[in-house]
Amino acid sequence: MPLSDRLRSIPNLTVLENVPLAAYTRFGLGGPAALLAETSDEVAFAAARQIIATSGAPLEVIGEGSNLIVADSGFPGVVLRYIATTITAEGNTIHAGSGATLQALVDASIHAGLAGLHTMTRIPGLVGAAVYGNAGAYGHSIQESVTEVRFFDGATIRTFTNPECEFRYRESVFKRHKDWTILSARFTLQPAPQHDLAQKAEEIRAIRDEKYPPTMKCAGSIFKNLLFHRLPADVQAQVPASKVREGKVPSAHFLEAVGAKGFTIGGIRNADYHANLIYNTGTGTAAEVCQMVDELKRRVRERFGFDLEEEVQYVGFGNTRQSY
Ligand SMILES: Cc1cc2nc3c(=O)[nH]c(=O)nc-3n(C[C@H](O)[C@H](O)[C@H](O)COP(=O)(O)OP(=O)(O)OC[C@H]3O[C@@H](n4cnc5c(N)ncnc54)[C@H](O)[C@@H]3O)c2cc1C
Repeated sequence: MPLSDRLRSIPNLTVLENVPLAAYTRFGLGGPAALLAETSDEVAFAAARQIIATSGAPLEVIGEGSNLIVADSGFPGVVLRYIATTITAEGNTIHAGSGATLQALVDASIHAGLAGLHTMTRIPGLVGAAVYGNAGAYGHSIQESVTEVRFFDGATIRTFTNPECEFRYRESVFKRHKDWTILSARFTLQPAPQHDLAQKAEEIRAIRDEKYPPTMKCAGSIFKNLLFHRLPADVQAQVPASKVREGKVPSAHFLEAVGAKGFTIGGIRNADYHANLIYNTGTGTAAEVCQMVDELKRRVRERFGFDLEEEVQYVGFGNTRQSY
């Protein structure tokens, strides 16, 4: 029986064929997935994973596609989405399905008068990917409030405590186990006046909407920022103290120095006001994004002697491009 039919036999799983992934990414780029399946049912998700594994078809789990570069040729296997959106608050704790948007979780925390997630206002994407990539902004990241993560490891459902998630800057154990899928997470937060949280979140929303207009086709920051202590000594010496924040130097600092701002390849452009922001003007391709990424990495390597690492994740490039 074809894989599509086997997947369709699973209750509560939606299965689509030949789906343009550009519609599932904020960049608006990428060719079709052979199959795209989604469910908010853990049992259906596990059953789909089992069938896909035995078929040998390539698998990619995605969220909202806000941090993805999908190849123009698409993805020759199954793209799977887990979309459970339940959010429940009890005391200082909030439990969220990994398919809830991070913004819905942020809003729930503010509504409950709980501080810790409100600075994540307007980070696009779903809770699962936010935990996977230890998303953060304004000096805080999601690791500070995660107490427990439930995930499917390909065979069973397991639960990790915060230390077991091995969070670091834009890193977690889940990035090193691409076959593990986060199903839900528990967050423990601190009580705070609801009005103060809402006000802070609104300030952040206004700043972010200016930097990343909601209609902009992009993936946020393309490259990770740099840990100052890991930079070569001669580069450290060139970085003004004012550029080092929480031990990190914005990669934009180095990108600006190599002329990234305004750099354009076809329909892909580096923002005039932010050197670590690449966007699709509407006619761009994934190949052009890759060309720009490679050229910027080359320039930084040549001038400063170290490699920038992408924060974005690649889909459909096989082993030819590395997701860090
Ligand atoms: C305008 C803009 C601004 C941004 N600003 C920030 C920012 O300030 N801070 C920040 O940290 N990020 C930022 N980002 C990046 C992005 O929002 C985050 O990386 C987000 O967590 C991605 O969520 P997603 O659901 O869209 O994931 P996707 O892009 O769909 O996937 C990203 C990765 O997560 C994996 N993944 C998805 N779901 C799961 C799951 N359930 N279990 C395991 N792995 C999973 C995927 O395999 C993939 O490798 C920004 C992006 C944009 C477009």
